[in-house]
Amino acid sequence: MAGAELIGIEEMREVQDVLETGVLMRYGFDKERRGVYKVQAFEEAFARYCGAKHALGVTSGSAALKVALKALDVGPGDEVIVPAFTFLATYEAVLEVGAIPIMADIDETLNLDPRSAESRVTDCTKAIIPVHMCGAPAHIDRILQVAKKHGLKVLEDNAQGCGGSFKGKKLGTFGEMGIFSFDYYKTITTGEGGMILTDSKDLYLRADWYHDHGHDHNPNVSRAMEGRFILGFNYRMNEIQGALGLAQLSKLDRVIGEQRKNKAAIRSILEGVRGVQFREMPDPDGDTATFLAFNLPDAALTKKCQKVLAENGVDTIYYKENLWHYVPNWEHFLAQATASSTKYPFKDPCYKKEIVYRREDIPRAEDILGRTLVLPISVRMPKGRLDVITRAVEKAKKAL
Ligand SMILES: *Cc1c(COP(=O)(O)O)cnc(C)c1O
Repeated sequence: MAGAELIGIEEMREVQDVLETGVLMRYGFDKERRGVYKVQAFEEAFARYCGAKHALGVTSGSAALKVALKALDVGPGDEVIVPAFTFLATYEAVLEVGAIPIMADIDETLNLDPRSAESRVTDCTKAIIPVHMCGAPAHIDRILQVAKKHGLKVLEDNAQGCGGSFKGKKLGTFGEMGIFSFDYYKTITTGEGGMILTDSKDLYLRADWYHDHGHDHNPNVSRAMEGRFILGFNYRMNEIQGALGLAQLSKLDRVIGEQRKNKAAIRSILEGVRGVQFREMPDPDGDTATFLAFNLPDAALTKKCQKVLAENGVDTIYYKENLWHYVPNWEHFLAQATASSTKYPFKDPCYKKEIVYRREDIPRAEDILGRTLVLPISVRMPKGRLDVITRAVEKAKKAL
């Protein structure tokens, strides 16, 4: 649960600043707010922390994906390559802008396989969305190479890897744009919320306009008199979220540091189990340690291991059967059951191809996720937890 575990006096103080002015909206009310601009301060601090030029706060990670795709001009007729293992929102965001998500395979990092991504490129491909799942980086360097070779945009979905890095550079700053989620489960939380990063002034402005009905946010005129170049919608972050974000961001390094310690301790217990291998990491130093993923030689052993661990008080996630994070399990998605009765954008004059999502097309995801168990790591490990894990692992060892 990460940042959510550390909510305390710092969050209360930041939120109190906002409540004292009574201005809950990030824009306007310049006199009443008496200098309090929490969303703006959060954006500036977040951009600085990640080493990006521009940051834009939005209502959620899902909204961040959609706003970024809009800024990148992804739309009807376009295809976007997305890994088979990700939260549903990554696919939904592509559909939201009228484009078609194209499923690619994963590799031993549990993230997008650069070779599979390349094999999915067609004349319609506009962008690739690598997802840094379970807090650790994809082979982002090789994915960037594929994108460059084929003239594709890269939008990093770093909803799960806030604070992570690859070779010293923060995740979310490699592609043209990167997004983050601050929902309640994520590494830091604002209840609900999201952030978009980019180094491009042009992409930032397009995202900024789109997320607020086209408002150009001209500081020299009142909000009512602001100009506009494009139509947009409302994905504005509010001041309470900004306040929470500021407090949580100040705790991010501590969250990651504690998780790393706890993860290392649990990992050393599991190391003794025959056949156990740990998830491949392109850069172990960049892991946020929110999850410990390990695998066993085959699916039967993996399920058995999960059962024994659970019976002894240690719950793990078996993503191959998870209903929200693996494409083959999304029956409504496979049925192309969008909210539109015409199945737009799957069925659309702009997109004449018949698209199917088959398990046969993602053999490595089928194999690897079928042998993988994932253990969530907490910031505060209750006393005695390591003993419980040690005993559960001893039982598993005997049973396997
Ligand atoms: C959580 C998540 C999202 C969506 O973020 P929300 O803030 O919950 O909308 C997108 N992608 C991934 C990989 C996620 O884990």
